[in-house]
Amino acid sequence: MSSNLYPGLLVVISGPSGVGKTTICHALVDRLGAQLSVSATTRPAGSGERNGEDYLFLSAQQFKQHLDDGDFLEHAQVFGHSYGTLTGPVMEALQAGRIVVLEIDVNGAKQIHQRFDRAKMFLILPPAPASLSDRLNTRRRDARTVIAERLAKADGEVRFARESGCYDYTIVNDNLEEAINQIVTIINQEKEKSQNDRRPQV
Ligand code: 5GP
Repeated sequence: MSSNLYPGLLVVISGPSGVGKTTICHALVDRLGAQLSVSATTRPAGSGERNGEDYLFLSAQQFKQHLDDGDFLEHAQVFGHSYGTLTGPVMEALQAGRIVVLEIDVNGAKQIHQRFDRAKMFLILPPAPASLSDRLNTRRRDARTVIAERLAKADGEVRFARESGCYDYTIVNDNLEEAINQIVTIINQEKEKSQNDRRPQV
């Protein structure tokens, strides 16, 4: 998609389960007034998750209908379930000049990278693999078998993401506040750059 078709900025955040992506995304909403895209998924809601806020929880049939109707900007299978970003709300917010944040996996990120040449792509990494296990266990959202599966896949996921070549920035979440500051600084710089690019030349 041409970089001049919308005034907003699309931001992609990826990383293994438990790395702190959701906390970082919410900080971008607070600090930058960004709009967080609510993904559709066929995975069951975890404890404390709300339909329409954390995700749109859909049946496999509902998800397929959206797919057939061409409603997804990107979609992927992750840990045996379907996940996808609905095009409508994202494009509306970009047209309105907003910063839009997608928290998606590397397969989805690759699709966005191909379609949006101005999207800013961030890969979040843990300082050490043990920190993922600590975070997944303390957030108490997932069953033990789910946590074990996610940890087992984390190394491969990170390798695949690094090799995808679609990320502009790799951020190590050693200190949450520092990681957020780094991302906020980069996004502010990008926003300013794109505003300057769009200003008429005199
Ligand atoms: P979780 O089940 O922990 O909420 O998410 C599992 C994985 O799916 C995470 O890596 C998350 O970033 C990814 N994910 C969430 N929503 C989407 C989406 O709309 N598209 C894609 N491709 N991945 C998503």
